[in-house]
Amino acid sequence: MEDVISSPTTVTNFGGNLTFQPKYHYVPRDEAEVLAILNRHAAGKIRVVGARHAWSEAIVTDDALVDMFHFQHVHTERTADGEIWATIGGGCTLHRALDELARQANATLPALGLITEQTIAGAISTATHGSGRHSIAHYMAEIRVAAYDPQTGQARIFVWNEGPQLRAARCALGCMGIILSMKFRCLPQYSIEESIRRHDTIDEVLAQEADHPLQQFYLAPHVWKYYAQERKALPPEQSRRSWYAWIYRVYWFLMVDISMHVLVKLFAAWLRSRWLVHLQYRRLLPLLMWKPRKLVDRSDRILVMEHELFRHLEIEIFVPARLVRPAAHFVQQVLTVFDGADAIDDAQADELERRGLLGRLMSMRGSFTLHYPITFRRVLPDDTLISMTADASESYYAISFITYVEPRDAFFQLAKFLAESMGPLFAARLHWGKHFPLDHAQIKDAYPNLPEFREICRQTDPRGVFCNEYVKRVLGF
Ligand SMILES: Cc1cc2nc3c(=O)[nH]c(=O)nc-3n(C[C@H](O)[C@H](O)[C@H](O)COP(=O)(O)OP(=O)(O)OC[C@H]3O[C@@H](n4cnc5c(N)ncnc54)[C@H](O)[C@@H]3O)c2cc1C
Repeated sequence: MEDVISSPTTVTNFGGNLTFQPKYHYVPRDEAEVLAILNRHAAGKIRVVGARHAWSEAIVTDDALVDMFHFQHVHTERTADGEIWATIGGGCTLHRALDELARQANATLPALGLITEQTIAGAISTATHGSGRHSIAHYMAEIRVAAYDPQTGQARIFVWNEGPQLRAARCALGCMGIILSMKFRCLPQYSIEESIRRHDTIDEVLAQEADHPLQQFYLAPHVWKYYAQERKALPPEQSRRSWYAWIYRVYWFLMVDISMHVLVKLFAAWLRSRWLVHLQYRRLLPLLMWKPRKLVDRSDRILVMEHELFRHLEIEIFVPARLVRPAAHFVQQVLTVFDGADAIDDAQADELERRGLLGRLMSMRGSFTLHYPITFRRVLPDDTLISMTADASESYYAISFITYVEPRDAFFQLAKFLAESMGPLFAARLHWGKHFPLDHAQIKDAYPNLPEFREICRQTDPRGVFCNEYVKRVLGF
């Protein structure tokens, strides 16, 4: 077979936290080869890999790994009433898809995350999201998947464009089969206006949201002030790019993407100095931040940054919008204890004591200093079965915590504490593609559609070929 990499390959993900050796490593060139792989491994295990940007163990297998690298096509069409539709191959990166959409149809995707290095299929499979919109998966209108015919057991291609199958496939962690292509209705290319402002309280930040629905904001640790990227989409007639937009892009790349991250690495990872980390946020950050007002640029230039330049690891915790204020307060209290404080405010202490968590929190006092801003992004309810904002009547805020320090044991303790406490306290859900220290028993109440999701997966994978240990642990297969 030409499509199999015969020598054993070691696969490592972006975060460097996963390393494994699949027995078979395929890079199929066309759909016939995908079906042949499925038939050959019908009694074994198969996982699909995209750009390896997930931190959770979603791609891990010791049997067959399938890399859809050759499925890169992007095909656009315009309907009679002017709608722009794109069919995109499962192995295409977001970056390439955006370039092609711009080139072929002056169009863009309806939502984007912070980077564009992921494949579209990978982004769909874990409900990758940005701020102020649904996850990218929500906008997927049709999907072609290679899986098993329930009658014959043979591999075949399924097309889903409505009903529970589509809702399940919009975030399926690779459990419904191999995604061959997806279809999206695109947006005409548009511009965004952005202002950056510092705020003392989360109330001030949230008050901006009605006028800036695409905003995202950061809580700067140790100074506990907010920086908001206040963003709104502009109508075409106001979309003139600011003359200094390119200067700002150069500034952002040099000062934020590079210099700020070098300082984080230097102070937190190499010198391991709590004092210098505090200094960075209390003194240096306000000096380094250029806070433009009403900067206008193309949407994908504003929404995306070079967040992948330095290896790191992230956990992202979603809380319902109505609980974001107490959740932000809780996070701040927990982080100050991990940083060395010996007390939290009385009301919070009573609440934790009632739930048997206070002693555990205090036992970890001084064990980890968070050295990266905490990002808050608002994600609208998805029309999906199990994405992080599935089946919701309100938006969620995704709160993300990142470490650049290795080894990561102290961060893992913090992440576990936050995940285990914020579940019961704030009805929180974790991003499936990021660090995931919980198991099915701890999350099942937050995802009422999980039984239906598992049942739908069984219809095209009755033998559990597409399951690995991770999805068994978290999804309860
Ligand atoms: C630097 C960085 C920034 C990030 N920013 C964001 C962000 O802004 N917002 C956000 O929500 N997430 C973000 N993420 C997380 C990332 O978007 C997700 O983990 C995404 O799933 C990674 O896509 P991938 O192509 O690398 O897939 P992989 O990591 O290779 O795989 C992820 C999952 O997709 C499945 N999969 C991949 N291809 C297929 C296919 N063809 N068919 C079936 N299943 C498939 C895999 O089996 C696996 O379950 C970021 C990650 C990094 C490292």
